[in-house]
Amino acid sequence: MKSLVVVTGAASGIGRAIAERLARRGTLLIVDRDPSVAEVAAELGTQAIAVEADLVTNEGVACVVEAASGFSIRGLVNNAGITRDSRLVKMTADQFSEVLDVNLGAAYRLTSSLIPMMGDGASVINISSRSYLGNFGQYNYATSKGGLVGLTRALAIRLAPKVRVNAIAPGLIDTPMTAAMPTEVLAKLVARIPLGRPGRGDEVAALVEFLLSEDASYITGQVHIVGGGRSLI
Ligand code: NAD
Repeated sequence: MKSLVVVTGAASGIGRAIAERLARRGTLLIVDRDPSVAEVAAELGTQAIAVEADLVTNEGVACVVEAASGFSIRGLVNNAGITRDSRLVKMTADQFSEVLDVNLGAAYRLTSSLIPMMGDGASVINISSRSYLGNFGQYNYATSKGGLVGLTRALAIRLAPKVRVNAIAPGLIDTPMTAAMPTEVLAKLVARIPLGRPGRGDEVAALVEFLLSEDASYITGQVHIVGGGRSLI
């Protein structure tokens, strides 16, 4: 049976960089609610299959399962995510639950739906965030990303030895998500990064490629920070 890797949130930023990196390694199912995911697949060539789907809906998850049927899943990268930052007193219940639904709920639903299709040695990677350690204004986001760490650890125990499950916690990465930040906020954040700059999507993608590979065959249930040393200070 042919195998593939599923990457969510692949129309933009880190997910797109992951798709570009993995395209040379075999068939990819790239998923996004943004219709431009079809253009990304066209650019990547015949190896990439695009699925336009909103992963907070049952229909969206079902579309991915349908598109992956007939393949053995050797990798799943739960990367789709959003921010709705706000001061604690101003954060609405909707802002809180929307972020949890996408960042944590979609990863949980998609992973549990795809587990039966995963082959021996498959690898699941959840894109968390360094913010899971705590960040001002990101009460919903930090909660969702901390939840992903818990999900990673629980699934790693449940799915061993057949499937490995890891989380990557990027620090500040230059993508459309961070480009939306005010310049002065961005400058303050960069000033606190020992390596002195934001990261790039391909620097996260390189670790994804490694964790999906046989070279990472003894690594499961871990959180890998890609943050230019920001978590040190
Ligand atoms: P981005 O906004 O550039 O891309 C996110 C993609 O996810 C978009 O294409 C969007 O359409 C898609 N998406 C959102 N909700 C979806 C849904 N319900 N169904 C399907 N697709 C959906 O963001 P990014 O910066 O590339 O972030 C990618 C991941 O990395 C996110 O999980 C984010 O939380 C995480 N992250 C980013 C940074 C950073 O500094 N950029 C840092 C740490 C973690």
